[in-house]
Amino acid sequence: MTIGEAWRAGAAKLREAGVGEEDANAELLLLHALGIGKAELLRDLREPMPAAKLEAWERSLARKAAGEPVQYIMGRQAFYGRWFEVTPDVLIPRPETELLVEAVLAACGGGALTALDVGTGSGAIAVTLAAERPAWRVYASDLSADAIAVARGNARANDADERVTFVRGDLLAPFVGGAGGGQFGEAGLAVDILVSNPPYIPSADLPGLQREVRDHEPRLALDGGPDGLAPYRRMAAQLRGLPRLPRLVAWEVGAGQAEDAAALLREAAEWERIWFVRDYAGIDRHVLAIRSE
Ligand code: GLN
Repeated sequence: MTIGEAWRAGAAKLREAGVGEEDANAELLLLHALGIGKAELLRDLREPMPAAKLEAWERSLARKAAGEPVQYIMGRQAFYGRWFEVTPDVLIPRPETELLVEAVLAACGGGALTALDVGTGSGAIAVTLAAERPAWRVYASDLSADAIAVARGNARANDADERVTFVRGDLLAPFVGGAGGGQFGEAGLAVDILVSNPPYIPSADLPGLQREVRDHEPRLALDGGPDGLAPYRRMAAQLRGLPRLPRLVAWEVGAGQAEDAAALLREAAEWERIWFVRDYAGIDRHVLAIRSE
């Protein structure tokens, strides 16, 4: 069997299983199994399929045919020009979240700022901010210890581990002050920028999600409570526990949630400006609130 024949047979197998985009998926998995790039694949189409790679190729095809996202099979996803390891313990970073990072970078200069990424998952946002802004100090939280382990690995792999501190905990809880003082003292952590892409799917909508998402991505990263807004409500309340209000808050939200999320921010504090950023589908996907010192 040649590499080209293996590709065609693989795509046919995926088509039979009812997996969408089978040609693209087969190509990605074949490149991964062979450990080569697209140019080499096209050059080697008539070469024999290496016997040593056959098992990995067939195993990954079977996983894809069973509905698993290709990113978990390959174990990685690109985000903002860098690779991130992904396991089923973390949400696969989405392209629209790159727009959130872009909006944060555009709203803030390169000065020495402290940024906090709440619900960091793979660490995509936190690590990208640290890598793009060498003068920033970045903190990141996640409720899942397994996610924190993945995120730490991603910070190391992208040479950002010295400027990103990961803390296990619920949303902003590890960073707010209080009697006795936690890890960040009685006052809590002074944060300039608060970024978050929290779980925001209303619980009742979870069964209706795409099968790949519903059956394979972590529920903890998806379930936003009865109306999907629970994490925003709690973050807005937690803002008061910080030693001072952040200069910028940037939240990714679900479809139709932007106005409600903005209202929560308005109730929590005074802002100079609140605006929305649309995603590639034209949906208001990010809510940003800024205030001057
Ligand atoms: N912050 C992570 C990301 O943007 C994880 C988001 C989540 O799990 N809800 O990919």
